[in-house]
Amino acid sequence: MLVERPSNILQACQGEQRDRYLLPAIRGERHDCVAMTEPGAGSDVRSMTTSAVRDGQDYVVHGTKHFISHADVADFIILFAATGSELASRGRRSLVTVLLVDCDTPGLTIRRGPACVSNRGYHQCELVFSACRVPVANRLGEEGQGLSLMDRWLGASRLTVAATSVGRARRVLEAAAAWAARREQFGQPIGRFQGIGFQLADMATELEAAEMLTLRAAARLDAGMMTAADAAMAKLYASEMLGRACDAAVQIFGGMGLMSELPVERWWRDARVERIWDGTSEIQRHIIARSLLRAHGA
Ligand SMILES: Cc1cc2nc3c(=O)[nH]c(=O)nc-3n(C[C@H](O)[C@H](O)[C@H](O)COP(=O)(O)OP(=O)(O)OC[C@H]3O[C@@H](n4cnc5c(N)ncnc54)[C@H](O)[C@@H]3O)c2cc1C
Repeated sequence: MLVERPSNILQACQGEQRDRYLLPAIRGERHDCVAMTEPGAGSDVRSMTTSAVRDGQDYVVHGTKHFISHADVADFIILFAATGSELASRGRRSLVTVLLVDCDTPGLTIRRGPACVSNRGYHQCELVFSACRVPVANRLGEEGQGLSLMDRWLGASRLTVAATSVGRARRVLEAAAAWAARREQFGQPIGRFQGIGFQLADMATELEAAEMLTLRAAARLDAGMMTAADAAMAKLYASEMLGRACDAAVQIFGGMGLMSELPVERWWRDARVERIWDGTSEIQRHIIARSLLRAHGA
């Protein structure tokens, strides 16, 4: 399956959705959040139970979402809700539809969830929908087609995780190399000890590989040729590379690496979430493996 550029998806949206929600969000005039994950449905999104039942010209939404980033400062929610179910090979699975929901809609409660160790600058929220009425006109795409819509844009969003990981790792490497050149123990810069120098060499090599993988996927996206597996490989490798680089940096900085006086401990904390959100590393591996097996008819 090919992943589309977000601008193509925008062109497919109709007047009200485009003009009142998506374009103002792109211009930074309104803030959106994406609500997919539920307490009982994380990686397995098709087990979601938040429901949207048609009633005249509205959908009536019931259910709970959690871990929703910056919902407390958002103007509207890109909500994924079950509008039915079908019998599939893994049993009954939800048919998912996307709705654009204003945050001040009656029946919707937004509260802050637990604090996260990564990215302390913004919060994850819990959303509770209780008989929340959303106009049918606010539906994005066709009913029951929400997951294929998601597949079309998640690839691009995974590339942003890969690019973020590459950028952060470059800063981490520069800081670690500078520290290893300056910090002296046993009468010489610690970088001259092979145990430290080889860690820097591995960080630099993996960083270059992750950057090339990310750039290659981005070039394919621009050419309309990027597959879900291309994006998954870039996200998987770059986010795991960043985790290894940050861990090595803490080691190279020694005790100072764990002190809040320097940014190293924050880089290390912030890196951790990149392997979890937008699909965990395990889910990326599933996507890559599935594309390999499908090519052989399995
Ligand atoms: C800081 C933060 C912000 C987030 N922001 C948002 C947001 O804005 N909107 C939103 O909708 N969601 C958001 N999420 C949720 C995020 O997308 C989920 O946490 C992620 O998809 C994993 O779901 P889960 O946490 O329920 O873990 P689970 O799905 O319960 O997974 C637990 C473990 O089991 C593994 N696992 C699960 N299934 C398989 C399998 N088939 N094969 C192998 N291993 C498997 C996983 O890889 C993981 O290691 C956020 C999460 C975090 C931490």
